[in-house]
Amino acid sequence: MVHHSPTESEPNRDRRAIPSVSTIIERWRVGGGRDVAPAIVTQTIQRVLSEIRATIGESDVPSHDAIVARVNERLALLNTPRLTPVINATGVLLHTNLGRAPVSPATAEAMRLTAASPVALEIEPDTGQRGGRMDEISRLMRELTGAESTLVVNNNAAAVLLVLAALAPEREVIVARGQAVEIGGGFRIPDVLQQSGATMVEVGTANRTYASDYKSAVSASTAAILMVHTSNFRIEGFVSEPHLEEIVAVGRAANVPVLEDLGSGSILSPRDFGLGGERTIGESIAAGVAIVTASGDKLLGGPQAGLICGSAAFVSRIERHPLARAVRAGKVTLAGVAETLRHYVRGEATSTVPVWRMIGAPVADLEQRARTLCGRLQIAEGVAVVRPTKSTVGGGSLPGETQESWGIALDIGHPDDVARVLRLGSPAVYARINEHRLVLDLRSVLPEEDDKLCRAITVAIGPQR
Ligand SMILES: *Cc1c(COP(=O)(O)O)cnc(C)c1O
Repeated sequence: MVHHSPTESEPNRDRRAIPSVSTIIERWRVGGGRDVAPAIVTQTIQRVLSEIRATIGESDVPSHDAIVARVNERLALLNTPRLTPVINATGVLLHTNLGRAPVSPATAEAMRLTAASPVALEIEPDTGQRGGRMDEISRLMRELTGAESTLVVNNNAAAVLLVLAALAPEREVIVARGQAVEIGGGFRIPDVLQQSGATMVEVGTANRTYASDYKSAVSASTAAILMVHTSNFRIEGFVSEPHLEEIVAVGRAANVPVLEDLGSGSILSPRDFGLGGERTIGESIAAGVAIVTASGDKLLGGPQAGLICGSAAFVSRIERHPLARAVRAGKVTLAGVAETLRHYVRGEATSTVPVWRMIGAPVADLEQRARTLCGRLQIAEGVAVVRPTKSTVGGGSLPGETQESWGIALDIGHPDDVARVLRLGSPAVYARINEHRLVLDLRSVLPEEDDKLCRAITVAIGPQR
């Protein structure tokens, strides 16, 4: 029996028609092979050939060129970064799936420099003695929030887990029933409490809790009262929660610390921007909360991190727990958080920290930008219209709160298809679909990205459509 290598015109289901690895390597080289280590190329070819072998009964052996194309596709996937900048035109300012808060250019630069170089992370430059890696951030947070001491960990989920593991093992933690919530991504307060080794004691009802409920739940085995910001939902109507001060008073009387998972952990008050009553870290500390935990990449506007701040005595107990080492923040994160905090120290946060620039953008500016951008799009007449929208802060901050915004609505046949083209474009753009229209909301886009956004839309829609 004669056999020869298959060509496009000559299908072949003969196992012997599968080329050898070296044949494909040769062909791959001739085709101007990519910049990938030889061992990875060989492995990829082996994998592709064995896939062909496995499906030989059902499909033809592809041509050598088709095999090389498949290999190159895999190699390109390995060799192309996924995490490159995208434009967030969803109108959700802190979009968890898009990595939450973008940091300021100064913060990004501080993180870049720290990553690429040794830094005095745990050495006091003055004395050459060992120093604390949290000292700088503690100092900044003390000024900004009144917290005596701060510890920075991987994220807020780690912060909550660590605080409970350190302060409440094998003891009881009192939580209002309405706050025993799931934050998202499987982060459920009852489960976290269980993981930490604490026992949850629920008080009140789903909608109403009184200071007296906390008072009667306190016992000799109570380690703490835990308050949780109900990040992503809001109960409306017949609802009651005691004031934080009342709960702190209950704790004081029983010598039980009040811990608060604030979630967002803002330095600035959202109320000053017409947004609802989210407590700042400073307000919680001032009310007498012993330990506040918060995210670095929500309303703080920094990199992913978890901040544990409050009483020095408690923070130092938390710092000594074995889990602290497992979840502590690295030098790049610490540099990023510190640089972000310095924007607040300089009183320039609303003009430098991206999330606050977005929150603070006047509606009239957003409308103006939408009109300018729309006028510059090189697409068919009438496809893009400027219109008012509603943006949200997102990321579990300020649930139910929206801000007036402006955007561009694209009236096209298949918004899903265009949304995909925009996501795969360069730069990629993430939009939202509202009433069968693709909407690009400008509040979550910084003005310096407008040019790029304009080009991306023009390319995705094309002048002919
Ligand atoms: C967002 C949030 C968390 C989780 O914070 P991460 O930084 O994402 O780990 C925990 N608790 C509350 C109340 C939150 O809002």
